[in-house]
Amino acid sequence: MERKNAWKNYDEKELEALEALSGRYRAFLDNGKTERECAKQAMALAEKNGYTSLEDAIRAGKRLNPGDKVYFVCMGKSIMLFHLGRQPLESGINIVGAHIDSPRIDIKQNPFYEDTDLVYADTHYYGGIKKYQWVARALALHGVIAKKDGSLVEIVIGEDESDPVLCVSDLLIHLAQEQMAKKAGEVITGEGLDIILGGRPLAGEEKEPVKALMLSILKERYGIEEEDMLSAELEAVPAGKARDLGLDRSMILGYGHDDRVCAYAELEAMLLLPAVPEYTCCCLLADKEEIGSVGATGMRAHYFENAVAELVNLTCDRYSELTVRRALKNSRMLSCDVSAGYDPLYASAFEKKNAALLGRGVCYNKFTGSRGKSGSNDANAEFIGKLRRIMDDNGITWQTAELGKVDVGGGGTIAYICALYGMEVIDSGVPVLSMHAPQEIISKADLYEAVKAYAAFMKEAK
Ligand code: MN
Ligand code: MN
Repeated sequence: MERKNAWKNYDEKELEALEALSGRYRAFLDNGKTERECAKQAMALAEKNGYTSLEDAIRAGKRLNPGDKVYFVCMGKSIMLFHLGRQPLESGINIVGAHIDSPRIDIKQNPFYEDTDLVYADTHYYGGIKKYQWVARALALHGVIAKKDGSLVEIVIGEDESDPVLCVSDLLIHLAQEQMAKKAGEVITGEGLDIILGGRPLAGEEKEPVKALMLSILKERYGIEEEDMLSAELEAVPAGKARDLGLDRSMILGYGHDDRVCAYAELEAMLLLPAVPEYTCCCLLADKEEIGSVGATGMRAHYFENAVAELVNLTCDRYSELTVRRALKNSRMLSCDVSAGYDPLYASAFEKKNAALLGRGVCYNKFTGSRGKSGSNDANAEFIGKLRRIMDDNGITWQTAELGKVDVGGGGTIAYICALYGMEVIDSGVPVLSMHAPQEIISKADLYEAVKAYAAFMKEAK
């Protein structure tokens, strides 16, 4: 059962559309290196395309009708777009869900210290990373600092060509005999991921003069004190823009494809829906997937369910809890998250005929999990049968995927959480090489097929 390479199908017009999409996606990556920045971009795109605030509608008690488009942002870190369909909510929603948080290095709450004329920020990494990949490379700092007066200072340092960048140092190879003999997981420790922030003393300062100069710069540029770090969310991420990869420009190398490539594909798919879709469609962009979908903005929180309840309240003559439950239970969902692309350099980690190949289209994982599918959603065969029909009818290049060989590892997504409502859910995504590395690789063809697939799913799933 060989799957076709998507590139073989494209004519000039499609190649042009694919390039244009890739350009828009690269811009989304460049301007979205944190969950907050991605949520903000999604909101701007929604507003530009006629979506209005669900919260405003709730406040005004505004009746919502088929064709109406609303969005809801949860604490600035996750966002949902709803495009109301002809059918009542009770008959279910066609959902595409992804996550917009990515692995990174977070700054601790009491981060700054000076050691031997250098000033550092202490960090705690976020998500699963190979720590040795994050040293000796340019890092940028993105995030917010909440002040006691309630104001929020937004920070981006290291993205503009004229900005300074930050870095975690590594030991020189000349003296690394002992380090090189260590296991890869122990080469760089978590507490060893401290970021260099400066190396020049403040004139006239006796006590920690290098730290003092760095603090004076923070004070001058952003009006913040050291104490303000107690209420900050600062993320160190790879500095610089996403780039076309390969002499044929067929791929994109960039930070955060997991899972912003699916998030962006969903957003573009939402814009391809007819004025009034048959069923209500939803694009759900969650936070905290990389640390277990926890917290108020993670998928395990109730914001999605609450938003559906609000929609029921604003579309039905009489609100009923049962209608909300039916809307959730009767829904159909693609849990859109990247999958491991088959990598010839690491062939032994994959079972090739069940692995996703770069360029062979959007992929569907019946199951994820590890050690005997543990933690997996394991989609229903009946649902997959319907999906096959939608994909093939719409000429979409697609493939099935398994996250590596049995018992070599594994992973999960938000699929199992949404499945708790009793809806049909399957994992779907774009194959990625070097997943969770500071720079990951995708094929433009797979992004292009994902957009088409997600639009077709939302239009036709029932
Ligand atoms: Mn992911
Ligand atoms: Mn991930």
